[in-house]
Amino acid sequence: MGSNEVLERLRSVSGAGLLTVGDAGFDDASTMVFAGDDRTPLVVVRPRDEREVAAVVTAAAESGTPLGVRGGGHAYARHALVDGGILLDLRELSRVEIDASRRVGVAGGGVSAGAYTTAAAEHGLATGFGDTPSVGIAGLTLGGGIGFLSRRDGLTIDNLLGATVVIADGRVVEASEAEEPELFWALRGGGGNFGVVTSLRLRLHETPVVTGGILAFEARGATVAALIRAAGEADDTVSTMVNVMKAPPVPFLPADQHGRPIVLAFVCHSGRPEHADAALASFRAAGPMLADLVGERPYPAMFQAGPDVAPNRVAMRTAFADAFDTDRADRAISLVGEAPTQGAVVNLRQMGGAIARVSEDATAFAHRSRALMASVGALSPDPVAAAAGREWADFTSGALGLDGSGYVNFIAASGDAAVRAAYPEATLRRLAEAKAQYDPANVFRSNVNIEPAEVATRR
Ligand SMILES: Cc1cc2nc3c(=O)[nH]c(=O)nc-3n(C[C@H](O)[C@H](O)[C@H](O)COP(=O)(O)OP(=O)(O)OC[C@H]3O[C@@H](n4cnc5c(N)ncnc54)[C@H](O)[C@@H]3O)c2cc1C
Repeated sequence: MGSNEVLERLRSVSGAGLLTVGDAGFDDASTMVFAGDDRTPLVVVRPRDEREVAAVVTAAAESGTPLGVRGGGHAYARHALVDGGILLDLRELSRVEIDASRRVGVAGGGVSAGAYTTAAAEHGLATGFGDTPSVGIAGLTLGGGIGFLSRRDGLTIDNLLGATVVIADGRVVEASEAEEPELFWALRGGGGNFGVVTSLRLRLHETPVVTGGILAFEARGATVAALIRAAGEADDTVSTMVNVMKAPPVPFLPADQHGRPIVLAFVCHSGRPEHADAALASFRAAGPMLADLVGERPYPAMFQAGPDVAPNRVAMRTAFADAFDTDRADRAISLVGEAPTQGAVVNLRQMGGAIARVSEDATAFAHRSRALMASVGALSPDPVAAAAGREWADFTSGALGLDGSGYVNFIAASGDAAVRAAYPEATLRRLAEAKAQYDPANVFRSNVNIEPAEVATRR
């Protein structure tokens, strides 16, 4: 089928908004959060319900046209954007319903973390996502989802009760522990490989307020090591991430620090407010402090501390780690100081708590026994600096001794190495079997792609 026929077909099967090159709004609609290489989709389609999603998936599958799926547009590899492909933009699927009495949130496949969190907070409730409001909850959830409530409530997938999914043959199925359990297992960590999620049902937790925000410190390896120690020893009501980064030009940091390495700890205590000071004391004592912005606030306010990334090019490297001692931290500080980009970060997220209490084979996210998720990022709007940032990120992750494992949502690549980093052997084998069952022709391949079992064996 040629591209004109594909467009005709899409127009006839879908009442959805359709944009092609030259249409007003096409450029905006095909812009992702990160800038990068030039890729122009054949068409952007904006379905309004699962029936329209199914029509688009079927048209893509039958015509062999590549398909990219966009929720919030934050993928580091800009997977949703495929040259000459269909960009399935889910942002019209924006419904959020909070059932406070049953503690269940229902959200469309294009809802952002910020929109859901604001709606849930009106009832004093929350489901934990990440640190940034504009991230799509479906994209984040399908990879795992780690954030400010993870040590208390688990990863986002641990709070996923069910999902409505359009699978590769165009059928709309429900996935949960009771229905299509293997699909449900695969969705919880397997990324966008198994279908288009049009709706998610998520468990809500009572979270009237949290005590959280930023603690900024002078850049010292001993401070980073003390923060990591405090994070590991804290009880499950404390979730943290520690950034060694170049200081952004923000008013709460002294001007002479701007552009120089500093340590920013994001802490979130989600237990009873009267216990927060004691729970956070060892963080505050970690070293010479530049700013203390931690306070009692509604949970959505934690998001305001999140990073602002657009419209940069990004290099991102990811791994899991078991420890991060003073030597490693000193190395991280000097490497961040030498980074060729203004945006440069070594990010350390504490795992453990409720994350580690779920067994490794219960979901397709299998790195639960690791203490830390580490990532190295470089950001620049300038293509030349960004290319240097990629080299820096490679060098830095090697110099910090980060191993070959990785969090699928932070992987900025596709291909075999990316898949093997994201999934240990047994997980990958089971995912490939599920892929063969639900997407044997690999319609959903613009992602960290899991090949169907038969294809993988034939190679
Ligand atoms: C600034 C920033 C902060 C982040 N912070 C965190 C964090 O704190 N914790 C964390 O865990 N992750 C975090 N991430 C990573 C984030 O979870 C992933 O980038 C995720 O894939 C983004 O989802 P999206 O919908 O926004 O992106 P998109 O690019 O729209 O989607 C990414 C991929 O997910 C799949 N997908 C998205 N929606 C659907 C759907 N409805 N159905 C089927 N497949 C779908 C598709 O394969 C798509 O290509 C962060 C990323 C950024 C850029």
